[in-house]
Parts: sequence; structure tokens; C-alpha cells
Amino acid sequence: MFKKIPSHILSAAALCLLAVCAVVVLAREFTGMWQDEPIYPGPGVSAVEKLSDYFPRLKDSRGNTDIYVLDSGKPGASMLVLGGTHPNEPAGFIAALSLVERCQPREGILYVIPRANRSAFTCTDPQEAAPMYFTIETAGGPRVFRFGSRATNPIDQWPDREVYVHASSGQTLSGMETRNLNRAYPGLKNGNFTEQIAFGIASLIREKDIDITIDLHEASPEYPTINALVSHERAMDVAAWAVMYMQMEGMQISLEVSPRNLRGLSHRELGDHTDTLAVLFESANASQGRLRGPMSEELIVKGVDPYYTLADSYGKLYVSYPASGISLSERVARHLCGIEQVAVSYNESMYPKGQVDLGQLPGYSQLMSEGIGAFLAPPREL
Ligand SMILES: [Zn+2]
Repeated sequence: MFKKIPSHILSAAALCLLAVCAVVVLAREFTGMWQDEPIYPGPGVSAVEKLSDYFPRLKDSRGNTDIYVLDSGKPGASMLVLGGTHPNEPAGFIAALSLVERCQPREGILYVIPRANRSAFTCTDPQEAAPMYFTIETAGGPRVFRFGSRATNPIDQWPDREVYVHASSGQTLSGMETRNLNRAYPGLKNGNFTEQIAFGIASLIREKDIDITIDLHEASPEYPTINALVSHERAMDVAAWAVMYMQMEGMQISLEVSPRNLRGLSHRELGDHTDTLAVLFESANASQGRLRGPMSEELIVKGVDPYYTLADSYGKLYVSYPASGISLSERVARHLCGIEQVAVSYNESMYPKGQVDLGQLPGYSQLMSEGIGAFLAPPREL
């Protein structure tokens, strides 16, 4: 007959089995954090390049991000759109992604980097209770996207110094800004990981002689630079007209000049160190703010937050915050409308290299009524 197995051995075996199951489940969850969600290039995409094509040192690193090239085939001006500089600001990433999937330029060439800081998509900010993912419903089903961090994943760059010294100016900032891509421009060839990503982006702009660079961001509603277009002084003509056109469409938007004494930002450094006209858009994202209620996927996507509506009623915000919220669709609509108006105003300024015509993009009111999901590709196997 079978010999009875002692109970302590059975317990040990059960524990081992449990541990193996836990490792399998957690490993799937963990490795999922490191995978880029699919992007479905639309008919306007003529090539997909890598940032390492412009700065080879980034190859085999998480700083090596995709560059989508949308070449109209008709000579003209060039525009670069950066999404995902801060992956906890999803409107920038989703607006850039929607250009890749929907835009068909008619003149000139558009470059889009949806994940400017790809490393920062692989983690969330500590102590923010941020969900790892958010979901957008499309006509063909839900698409799930990573909600990331403001800064490069510490696994790629660590430890932070106590004080971050901006390389080309000597400006000092809090050590946590060491991993902030938008404090690292114009980048440094032999610098830290984040400075190298910035250097790669600046190299692309120089090598392709890109005429206009637009960096897409979001900020908390109590932050003064909000619903704003921030412009390098060389881009002020183009930016001023773009803001005026947006205001004529009924959008609340202000124009701000890039401060000379705040260094490392894309509009300041790319404007100073390359020939591009550099601007940056900010929209209002309650999920980043200090006054918000519970952090959730719904807050990221729908933007409904009674505490911000209350703060608005006391006049404490820099934007109006309705009870219906400021949805991700509205924030993306603002970015897309802004990009389109920058192109229009650049073209009207009759710059010598020709025009950049982005073709038919969904309008602001259309995006507001149908939602951004209606303009993203449905999920499919690649
Ligand atoms: Zn930002």
C-alpha cells in the first residue's frame, strides 16, 4: 500500500506550488509593464524609424523610441510632434498616436514620436496611487494604454543626485528632475540616460532640419501655465496667430513666451540650439493635480472631479472646471486643433521652405461629440 506522506511535506509542496503560481502571474503582469502597446500606422505613414538612427548609442536601450514619418511626397516644410515626454499626461501621447493612425499630410513632412520618453511609460510615480492603465473605447473594441510617469524609470537611470545640474547652463534643480526629459534639453552626448534621449531628439531635428517642433503636455488645473501655448521667441509670430485662431474657435487658450531663465525645456533649448521653431501645448489634467479626489482610470479618461469644480467656484484655478469634467477627448481635441492651427499659421507666414499641410484632421467639435475613440484604429493582431 501507499505510504502516507507526512503532512509537513504536503504543506511544503502546496506552498511551493502556490509560489510558482504567484511567480507566473506576477511575471506576466511585470513583463506586461515593459511592452509597448500596439500602434497601428495609418495610410499616411511612409516609414517608421528609430531614434537610434540619429543617435546610435540609444540602440538596445529603452530610450530607443519609434519615429513615425508621414511624408506627403510633396516638397514642403517639416513638423515634429512629440507626445509622451511625460507619460502621466496622456493627452499628449494619445494626440500623437492619433496623428500616426489618422493623419495624411498633403504637403511637406510630419514626424511623430508618440513615446518621447519611452522609459517613463514603464513605471508610475511613487505615492500617486495611479492606475497602470487606462482604456479608450473604439468602434472595434477597447484599447488599453499604459499610464506612465513624469520621469525616466529608475531602473534605466539611478540614483538621482541630490541636486540636478542642467548641463549647458549650470542651472540647479531638485534632484528628482534628473530624470525629467523636459529639463534635459538640448541633451548631452555623454550625459545621463535622459540627457542622451534629449540629445537624440535634438539630433533628429538638426539632421532633418525640422522647421517646427511641437511638444505636447498636460498640467494640473491649479498650475498657472495651463490651456496655454508656450513659444520660443523665434516662433512667436506663428504661435500668436495659432492662439488667435484657436480663440476664434471658442477655445480658452493663452500665449506665453518661453522664459529665458528656466532651462532644459524643449521650447527654450531646442529653440536656442537648433533652427526649429519650438512650441509647447499644455492642457488641464485633473489626475495630475493636488486638489483632486480619488485617483482612478475614470478620472484620467472622463476628468470629472467635484473638488476641482468646487475650487473653480472659489476662483482658485487657472481654467474653468465644469461639473461635466475636462475629458481626455477634450484635451486631445485641444492638442490636435492646436497642431493644425500652428501649421496653418506657419503656412500663412510664407516661410521660404514651403508649407506643411496636415490634410483633413477631425475638428474640435467633432472630437468633442464623438470622442477620441472614434478616431483611433480598432484593436487588431499585428
Ligand atoms: Zn509635462
